[in-house]
Amino acid sequence: MPQILDGNRVRDEIKSELKPRVDALIARGRAPGLAVVLVGDDPASAIYVRNKIKTCHDLGIYSESITPPASISTAEMLAIVEALNARPEIDGILVQVPLPSQIDTKRILSAIAPAKDVDGFHPCNVGALVANLPAPRACTPAGIIQLLKRGGIAIAGRRAVVVGRSDIVGKPVAMLLLHEHATVTICHSKTRDLAAVCREAEILVAAIGRPAMITGDFIRPGATVVDVGSNYVADRDLVARIFRNSPEKLAAFDRKGNVLVGDVDPFDVVERAGAYTPVPGGVGPLTIAMLMVNTVASAERSSGVC
Ligand code: NAP
Repeated sequence: MPQILDGNRVRDEIKSELKPRVDALIARGRAPGLAVVLVGDDPASAIYVRNKIKTCHDLGIYSESITPPASISTAEMLAIVEALNARPEIDGILVQVPLPSQIDTKRILSAIAPAKDVDGFHPCNVGALVANLPAPRACTPAGIIQLLKRGGIAIAGRRAVVVGRSDIVGKPVAMLLLHEHATVTICHSKTRDLAAVCREAEILVAAIGRPAMITGDFIRPGATVVDVGSNYVADRDLVARIFRNSPEKLAAFDRKGNVLVGDVDPFDVVERAGAYTPVPGGVGPLTIAMLMVNTVASAERSSGVC
């Protein structure tokens, strides 16, 4: 059986390492502070934000959520961000994306003070990532590196293939793997013979957004497979096909109307991989954990601890 890279375990480890750092900051006079801006009433985004706020609470991090209506303008959003930039008790600012179409998302994300950009999306922080300088790193990619390292997966010198070139996952995780001395290939929708390129990978990262697209013929036997995909499949026939008519998955579908599926075929990966991240319970739990790491590190920098 392949090794399972257990995201829940690694998340708990990271949280327990953070707790004394938060306590030390509180002892010096101030808890780290995170502000989350959630525009509109998208239910999926609301769940993400609730989980972030709850994790802050568990760790003793001060948090607040700001919830402007979906009709807000770019100028009004800029005013919210600038007010948060000016507040010394706020160490991290997270603007939940996607934003409504009338808002200039790039302008808003670039308005966040780089030191408070705990998502790591500000152009200054992207530049720091490329230059391998200390700065907040994008949370999901940083979480993937933690999963690999804490799972004892060697990275240096290995062939890594990343499928997906988004600014949020694909590009930053490729850069982090490069800084860990992997030999990295980035693939996308125009890559020719994707399966053959993926089969070269000793570490394969799938960040595509297409349920179970990576099947056995993409996986080199013994490879480490990181499945970033988070796809809610609402087609019962597709769920039946992906999960080989699993009665449990079909019962879950009948209860909820959808099932969470990664980008990697959940049966083929078990047959072919040497190690893999399950969905759920793999990469997902790390994203919030790394957001907390970035918030605490920002508070430590602003209080002169490091
Ligand atoms: P995205 O912005 O839509 O990017 C998807 C990438 O996949 C693009 O680069 C696209 O190529 C590539 N792609 C699409 N179809 C392809 C195909 N048939 N063959 C090869 N490449 C293909 O998505 P994202 O934001 O990176 O997210 C990717 C997945 O990760 C989604 O399922 C998302 O929900 C999940 N996610 C999970 C977490 C977490 O915490 N677990 C966090 C973030 C994202 P082009 O550039 O050529 O279009």
